[in-house]
Amino acid sequence: MKHALITGITGQDGSYLAEFLLGKPDYTVHGLVRRSSTLNRQRIDHLTSDPELRERFHLHYADLADASSLAMLVETLQPDEVYNLGAQSHVRVSFDQPIYTADVVGTGTMRILEAVRHLNRTKAVRFYQASSSEMYGSAPPPQTMETPFHPRSPYACAKLYGHWQTVNYREAYGLFACSGILFNHESPRRGESFVTRKITLGATRIKEGLQKKLVMGNIDSKRDWGFAGDYVRAMWMMLQQDKPDDYIVATGETYTVRQFLEWTFGMLDLDYRDYVEFDPRYMRPSEVDVLLGDPSKAKAVLGWEPEVDIHGLIKMMVENDLEIARREKYAQGYQTV
Ligand code: NAP
Ligand code: GDP
Repeated sequence: MKHALITGITGQDGSYLAEFLLGKPDYTVHGLVRRSSTLNRQRIDHLTSDPELRERFHLHYADLADASSLAMLVETLQPDEVYNLGAQSHVRVSFDQPIYTADVVGTGTMRILEAVRHLNRTKAVRFYQASSSEMYGSAPPPQTMETPFHPRSPYACAKLYGHWQTVNYREAYGLFACSGILFNHESPRRGESFVTRKITLGATRIKEGLQKKLVMGNIDSKRDWGFAGDYVRAMWMMLQQDKPDDYIVATGETYTVRQFLEWTFGMLDLDYRDYVEFDPRYMRPSEVDVLLGDPSKAKAVLGWEPEVDIHGLIKMMVENDLEIARREKYAQGYQTV
């Protein structure tokens, strides 16, 4: 039995990764959760409530801001694989909370790396770091493994620190540590304040008459959007190689936020121009204009391929959010179809 520890298990990627690993009969999954006054475990409720997973799925309290809790957890669990997905992951919010973001995303990575380094003296551990395309920032597209980084937000700077520490722990201590430079990836479980989910939630609510307008920031920026379910597979593949290395995970296609709006509203027979308004509140002090990743190394070495394209992704998110909007409408006492 392999034991995997996942930080960020309650998040989008943590939930898909847990599902993916638990789909393999030889994995026990341990998730790190932090204490909150109300439970926020919706993304993993189906796993915690599955009686067949009772022996193979466990949650433990700790925090990336708390080194001793991480050291204790890693020492106690003796995991074979550690996936560090926990983060304050919102770029816009990182401008409001730069020091907190640096602590959790940057120093937090060091804290868990230290815990893993200590365990690695007596037991081989494999470590995955959730790095980000935001580290490329203003570097011109396409961004490849050779493109120099130029971060444009406190989040991106903190991620870059975590990335280089991961590389350094591999080079300095021989740790099996991989950094996955993942371009934006979305799903019906994406946080509601990221642009894709904000659009699919907004458009479906407009369709159901629950909302009149959708207020947006810069809709001319371009992103390389993939499906989170495809991307967690790449994380696991990295840790199954003979040698640790870093990889870009992306689709190799980029579209504007405007196109995402057009296709989402179009799928609902609506014209986004009738509903979208601009609010400078959603602009960032510095923007990342174009992200377009080159995933050729991940494809060649890992044999990784994405299975869902942008239109499949939008369809999946729209269907999910239409269902939510219809339930909300029903709960409000409207007549439903
Ligand atoms: P997410 O949905 O925002 O999830 C973040 C997770 O981190 C949540 O489980 C959150 O717990 C946890 N967390 C936050 N602060 C923590 C702390 N102090 N200690 C322990 N856990 C903490 O993010 P995601 O989209 O799944 O992304 C996963 C990782 O990949 C993140 O590191 C993100 O920065 C990175 N990444 C994401 C993308 C993308 O497009 N999604 C692209 C590149 C890199 P709570 O539920 O308690 O808040
Ligand atoms: P990011 O690439 O990690 O910053 O992911 P986001 O989904 O938060 O943002 C993607 C792009 O959408 C960025 O260029 C944002 O400036 C742009 N954008 C435009 N309007 C909005 C909005 O209302 N919310 C968010 N989150 N992003 C927006």
